[in-house]
Amino acid sequence: MLDINTIRNDFPILSRTVYDRSLVYLDNAATTQKPRQVVEAITDEYYNVNANVHRGVHYLSQQATDLHEEAREKVRKFINAKSTSEIIFTRGTTESLNLVASSFCDEFMQEGDEVIVSVMEHHSNIVPWQLQAAKKGISIRVIPMTDEGELMLDEYEKLFTERTKIVSVTHVSNVLGTVNPVEEIIRIAHEHGVPVLVDGAQSTPHFAVDVQAMDCDFFAFSGHKMYGPTGIGVLYGKEDWLDRLPPYQGGGEMIESVSFEKTVFERLPFKFEAGTPDYVATHGLAKAIDYISAIGMDNIQRHEEELTKYAMQRLSEVEGIRIFGRSPRKDAVVSFLVGDIHHLDMGTLLDRLGIAVRTGHHCAQPLMIRLGIQGTVRASFALYNTKEEIDVLTEGIKRVSRMF
Ligand code: PMP
Repeated sequence: MLDINTIRNDFPILSRTVYDRSLVYLDNAATTQKPRQVVEAITDEYYNVNANVHRGVHYLSQQATDLHEEAREKVRKFINAKSTSEIIFTRGTTESLNLVASSFCDEFMQEGDEVIVSVMEHHSNIVPWQLQAAKKGISIRVIPMTDEGELMLDEYEKLFTERTKIVSVTHVSNVLGTVNPVEEIIRIAHEHGVPVLVDGAQSTPHFAVDVQAMDCDFFAFSGHKMYGPTGIGVLYGKEDWLDRLPPYQGGGEMIESVSFEKTVFERLPFKFEAGTPDYVATHGLAKAIDYISAIGMDNIQRHEEELTKYAMQRLSEVEGIRIFGRSPRKDAVVSFLVGDIHHLDMGTLLDRLGIAVRTGHHCAQPLMIRLGIQGTVRASFALYNTKEEIDVLTEGIKRVSRMF
């Protein structure tokens, strides 16, 4: 059992009001709130340590470098990577996915080669491949799903051809909450000699991830969705793959030596980290990892599973509700529509009751097309949410429904 009251006290924003009502924050799949421990670490670093990292000989620079590199080790441990060489800091999941799409295509894909993605991808795992399609003539093949929101693995197997060069799938859908069987997806891809990139934006906040056990070749996630700062994310890659990929961007920090005749790139992971990194955000991310590790990922998972089950049960009471995503492996996200009430109307009126949910296509328009809808209302949970908040949501939805 989590001590929710103590946890909520760590998040000052949760006790504020909106429109004179207690805030019920259920937009965690978009971004989570930050505990004091993270915010204070960031402030403290700016007040007391701030200096650019890596090449400075002076005291502050070395201290900032230590914090930055300690954060890399924390991330390594958090996802159980073999080595810190495999942990690349980026601006977020989107940048991590773009990095792989761009560098992988540059090195390993020719016109006519294929990438496999799924129908439930976030735009950030579709558009980077489309950019490569426009540039290089690669093509994109799509794993379909069932009406319950589960990927069809038999159809997936049929998508492989001799031109398949990489598979890129989301670990958890940000709309349906489906936890995809990535281990199985990876095993099948590896049987075809094809590497797999996993979008972990919606898994890392909710359950323990072990990249070695999963055996993914690349794994991307964002700090801000797991109680860390915005603007910082991670790309994990197996060293063997990262060694073979060309740099994504050029500049300072990513080189060993530069002359107009020849430039030698830095070793991993720095080869992929051009420019001054957000070393304060990496420290903030490390504090977020400390925070959730102290609570225990298993405890967080148990609590959120209970919340999700409770939400499915309570929301099913609402007359005329359609819930999208009914896989038994569902995580912390409930998307729905009620009757013919527009998602935007529902979201706007819930907001007036102090309930923050997200409405729209959730950056997954191909999934909306598959579902035959324009958008949904989405409630998404974090470790600090309570069953009482789900009751408030349920009553809110009923109240709004009565207005139409
Ligand atoms: N993938 C998924 C599944 C997501 O939910 C999100 C964020 N909504 C992203 C990628 C993109 O993450 P970011 O905006 O932090 O780069």
